[in-house]
Amino acid sequence: MQNNCIFCKIIAGEIPSATLYEDEDFKVIMDIFPAAKGHAIILPKKHCENLYELEDASAEKVMKVARMVAAAIKAELNCDGLNLLQNNGEVAGQTVFHFHIHLIPRYRNDSLKMTWSQGKYEGQEAVELAKAIADRLIESDRKANI
Ligand code: AMP
Ligand code: ZN
Repeated sequence: MQNNCIFCKIIAGEIPSATLYEDEDFKVIMDIFPAAKGHAIILPKKHCENLYELEDASAEKVMKVARMVAAAIKAELNCDGLNLLQNNGEVAGQTVFHFHIHLIPRYRNDSLKMTWSQGKYEGQEAVELAKAIADRLIESDRKANI
C-alpha cells in the first residue's frame, strides 16, 4: 500500500466504493465521476503507478478480468459498445497514479468523444519507427518478426 494513494485506500476498505468484483489480485469499482452509467475501473491490489510498473503476473490476469466485467456490463446495460481506456502519465490524462483500466459503456448517439485527428507518416517513416521501437524490445521473443 502506497501512502496517500486513494485507490490503495479503497482497496484497503478505508474509503468506501461501489465494488462489483473482487478477487485476490484485483478490485473493480464504479468510477465516482462516470463518463457513462456503469463506467467501472479495474484496480490491481498491489500498488503500481502505471503500465510500465505493472508486473507480468498482473498484466497476464488483468485482461481476463476486463473481459469478464465487460461482458457483465453489457449484459446488464445492453450497451452498444464499450471502451477500455488506460492512461499513463499526466499528459495522457492520468489523475490517479495507481494503475487502472477504465471500462466505459458506449451507446449509439452518445455524446462521448474519444477520438483524434488522423496524422500521417511520410515515406518509410512508419517502417523505420517500427524497426527502432522493435530494436528496443528487451526480450527478443517479443520482437516482431521483421
Ligand atoms: P485517470 O484520469 O485515468 O487517472 O482516472 C482516474 C479515475 O478515478 C477518474 O475517472 C475518477 O473519476 C476516478 N476516481 C477518483 N476518485 C475516486 C473514488 N474515490 N472512487 C471511484 N473513482 C474515483
Ligand atoms: Zn495505490
